[in-house]
Amino acid sequence: MSLHFENVSFTYPGAQHGIEAVTLSVAPGELLAVMGRSGSGKSTILRLTAGLLDGYQGRIAIAGRDVAGIPVWRRDVGMVFQQYALFPHLNVLDNVAYGLRMRGIDAAKRRARALDMLERVGLAEHAGRRTTLLSGGQQQRVALARALVFEPKVLLLDEPLAALDAGIRQQLRDEIRTLQRACGATTLLVTHDQDEALSLADRVAVVDGGRVLQVDTPDRLYDRPVTAQVARFVGHSSIVPGRVIANGTVDVSFALLFADTRAFVPGDRVDVLIRPEHVQPDPPATAVNRLAGRRAEVRYFGATCRYDFVPDSTHEPLLCEGRRLAEHAIAIDPEHLHVLRAQTSQFC
Ligand code: ADP
Ligand code: MG
Repeated sequence: MSLHFENVSFTYPGAQHGIEAVTLSVAPGELLAVMGRSGSGKSTILRLTAGLLDGYQGRIAIAGRDVAGIPVWRRDVGMVFQQYALFPHLNVLDNVAYGLRMRGIDAAKRRARALDMLERVGLAEHAGRRTTLLSGGQQQRVALARALVFEPKVLLLDEPLAALDAGIRQQLRDEIRTLQRACGATTLLVTHDQDEALSLADRVAVVDGGRVLQVDTPDRLYDRPVTAQVARFVGHSSIVPGRVIANGTVDVSFALLFADTRAFVPGDRVDVLIRPEHVQPDPPATAVNRLAGRRAEVRYFGATCRYDFVPDSTHEPLLCEGRRLAEHAIAIDPEHLHVLRAQTSQFC
């Protein structure tokens, strides 16, 4: 079932915050991650989808049908939140079966379906336990089972892994993906964690200040961010302001860099994006975009190192990454320089 947001704006009553002109499309069965920092409007998008907030402008449609005025319980939407929000007085099985009871399904069927769902999240043997005796990861699996047991067409996950330890988070991340694929629910996953968003999602919507900055596949978001602001959200980078001075040439104040500038004309203000893994250490003297200088701070990360390199002509370090560290010079292949339109003052 598809999910559409068309130019949706919402402001919390008495506040100036919310979301502004959000347009999003999620295809049937797709997992779209909504990624952004705290307060950017992620949960608001989820609450609007679920029908937990009223009084928005624009159009929200599930399966092509405008959902304005349709209450939460009739939207066919399953939800999981950061805090497990399980019923402490019910055991695991009854927590999962709860939604079915509300829908008038008889006791034997409720039990069978809840047990089947618990089997799928690996908790069948805990069916009779109190939820308060489970670990955080197990409780979140119960929450997932409870959301999925009535086979919702749309699954809404709001930072479902944020409260868990790193190890279990990784494991549950994979399990969520497997479950989501198996049940085929159209899914919105809210997260501030870019690793989670990039590794789990079919596509990612980057939001900030209540607005969607870009919606794209993880690899395009990383390789082709539309603005420096998006680039800063996704991976590490150096972003250098400059001006196109001729076709294929950008003046970045400390050097002339050769890059693909076909989207621009001479005189345009731009930002040049340099990903640290594309910096070549100590290239031959004839290399294109070669910058002599010195290495500064080095940070070790086991499999790789990140370090700063300061070109002679500037005080600003460029971020580099690799096992081999540059000593005297670096170069960046023009193919790996990504020239972005300079941002308007709105974002500065
Ligand atoms: P996120 O989930 O990305 O952290 P939210 O969608 O919860 O952000 O919030 C978006 C903005 O709306 C924030 O500025 C937040 O402070 C504000 N906000 C959230 N909930 C309320 C509320 N109930 N009343 C007033 N403002 C709110
Ligand atoms: Mg939130």
